[in-house]
Amino acid sequence: MDQKLTIALSKGRILDETIPLLRDAGIEALEDIKSSRKLIFDTSQAHVRLVIIRATDVPTYVAYGAADIGVAGKDVLMEANNQNLYEPLDLGIARCRLMTAKPVGREEAAGRLRVATKFTNITKRYYAEQGRQVDIIKLYGAMELAPILNLADRIVDIVDTGKTLKANGLEPEELIAPISSRLVVCKASMKMKYAMIQPLLERLGRVVQSKK
Ligand code: AMP
Repeated sequence: MDQKLTIALSKGRILDETIPLLRDAGIEALEDIKSSRKLIFDTSQAHVRLVIIRATDVPTYVAYGAADIGVAGKDVLMEANNQNLYEPLDLGIARCRLMTAKPVGREEAAGRLRVATKFTNITKRYYAEQGRQVDIIKLYGAMELAPILNLADRIVDIVDTGKTLKANGLEPEELIAPISSRLVVCKASMKMKYAMIQPLLERLGRVVQSKK
């Protein structure tokens, strides 16, 4: 088989939790990804390589077929909303919740709600579905600070234990979506490399099932 299969992962929780799943499915990097600065890794299967990219870039690489397969959080996928991807498998890892949050005890603001978030597309859709008009303020990090400095009335952010919110005087409000990491496949790759991709999906599916 001279066709290569490229799998895109991102460093952090997704990488930590995906490495064991891939290993159980028979794919192991030939060197330690976590301690290396390299971005491309050969694996125990000669035709499979792993690439390490930013989490928010995974949908883009996979949609264009630069990577055939990727692992990305449901939050990142909902935000990218890319139609060129299949999402065949919930890996059940890196679980958390996407929520709105507000300062503890602060009254509902009169007028339009100002919502700070890095998930602007999700936030737009969420409030539009509820028929609520909001002003969305795009931030790239430290969303929790926005209500404290009165930049916004609400934030939309990832919540795991809730400690980050609490430490900043915020409380979770509405659940937008439960989040976990998903396997995504480029639609074009699925057609052209079906014979390589389908068995891998089946093996990974069995591994995920066995962890439940
Ligand atoms: P916590 O204080 O446990 O609620 O964690 C909240 C912070 O951790 C958020 O602001 C996120 O940046 C980060 N976080 C926790 N879990 C995840 C996850 N599964 N994916 C991405 N970010 C996460």
